[in-house]
Amino acid sequence: MNDNLDHRDLGRELGVFATDPLAGSGLPLWLPDGALIRAELQRLAKDLAHRDGCVDVYSPVLGKRGLFERSGHLAKFSDDMFPSMRLGDEEADDELVLRPANCPHHALIYAAASRSYRELPMRFNELGAMFRAERSGVVSGLSRVRQIHLDDTHVFCRPDQAGEEAARGLRAAIEAQRILGLPVDYVRLSVRDDSDAWLGSREQWSEAEAALRDAGRALLYDAGLQLVEVPGEAAFYGPKFDLQVRDGRGHEETIATVQLDFNLPERFDLTYHAADGARHRPVMIHRGTVGSMERVVAALLERYRGRLPLWLAPVQVAVLPVSEAQDSAARALVEALRSRGIRAELRCDDSLGARVAEARRRRDHLIAVIGEREAAAGAVQMTDVAGERRVTVPVESLVERVVEARDGRLPFVRWS
Ligand SMILES: [Zn+2]
Repeated sequence: MNDNLDHRDLGRELGVFATDPLAGSGLPLWLPDGALIRAELQRLAKDLAHRDGCVDVYSPVLGKRGLFERSGHLAKFSDDMFPSMRLGDEEADDELVLRPANCPHHALIYAAASRSYRELPMRFNELGAMFRAERSGVVSGLSRVRQIHLDDTHVFCRPDQAGEEAARGLRAAIEAQRILGLPVDYVRLSVRDDSDAWLGSREQWSEAEAALRDAGRALLYDAGLQLVEVPGEAAFYGPKFDLQVRDGRGHEETIATVQLDFNLPERFDLTYHAADGARHRPVMIHRGTVGSMERVVAALLERYRGRLPLWLAPVQVAVLPVSEAQDSAARALVEALRSRGIRAELRCDDSLGARVAEARRRRDHLIAVIGEREAAAGAVQMTDVAGERRVTVPVESLVERVVEARDGRLPFVRWS
C-alpha cells in the first residue's frame, strides 16, 4: 500500500477535500467524506464545551469596520484581513469587513444585557468561520487557508475566577488532543517581562500569572506534561497557556491557546454589577480546545496516514460476503449496524480479493468478511485496518463492541 504522509495527497486520495481554481486558492471544498470527519470533530468540540458549562452563540462573519477598529484588530492585523467592502454610495460608516476573529462579536453578546457577579463566569462557544487574507503563493491544502472554522470559546469572569477558568480551558484542550490521539510535547506559560510593553497593572499581571502557574502545575503534573514558563512571550494584553508540539524536523507549533485578556473588556467597556453594588471589569479568556477544523483534519490525516480511529472514519465497517450465498447475512449485518448509527457499507460487486484491497485503499476502519463457515456460526471475520488485527466475532457482540468504540471515541475496537 502506498503510505503517503502529506495530507494534501491523502485528502485527494480519500476524497476528503478538493480545490478548484474557479473557487479560489486557499478555499478548499469539503467533499462528503471530509464533511463526515468534520461533523464528528464538531460534535467532539461541542461535547467538550457543553461539559464545561459553555453555551452556544452565533454571530455574523461580517462586521462593520468600526467594530474591528474598537477591538484593535484593524490596527494590529489589517495586513492579514481582506479589504473592507463599501456598499454603494452609503456613508463610510457602513463599510463592512470579513472578521479575522470571533472575539469582538462575543464581547458584544456579553454587552447585550446587564450582568451580575452571580451570573459569572459566562462561557460563549461558537464554531464559526473567520478569514485570513493569505497570498495565493503561500496557501496549501487544509493547513494554510483563507477561511478557517475555529472551535472558539470566550469566557467572561471575575478576576478571582480567572485561574480556575484558565485551568478548565487547559484541561479541555489537553483532553481534546488525548481523544484525537495527537501528541502534546509540553505546555508553555507565557508571562510578561520587566519592560513596559504590557497593558494593565503590575499587580493585575502578577496575580493572574500566579493563578495560572498554580493551576497549570497541578493539572499538568496529573497529565504527565511539563510546564515551561517563558518571560516576554505573553500577548501584550495578558498571560496565556500554549499547547506546544515539535515535529520531526525540529519545527515547533502552538496547537491550542488559553489566553487571559485585560484589553478587550476595556475597549468594549464591559462590566458586571458586584456584590458591593459597583460596576467592575470582567476578565475575558479566549480558549481554543479542538482547534480549527482545517488544521485538525490535516494533522489527523498525517498522524494516522489516513487510517482514522473508528469514530472518525467515513466508513466504519465495510461488510464483504465471500459469495452470493452469504448476501442475506451480510445485508442483515449492515442493517443491524446502521440501526445503531454506525456507518456500514455492503460491498459485493467484485472478487473478494479486489474488495478487500479497495476497502484497505479507502481506509475503511473495519473489514467484515462473511464466508460459509461464519454465516453458519452467526459470526464475522473482522480485520481492523489501523491495528492490523484479525478476529472472528459473533454478530451480536460485534455490533455492541463497535457501538462502544464509537461512543467512547476509542482508538480501537476492544474485541475482548
Ligand atoms: Zn478570541
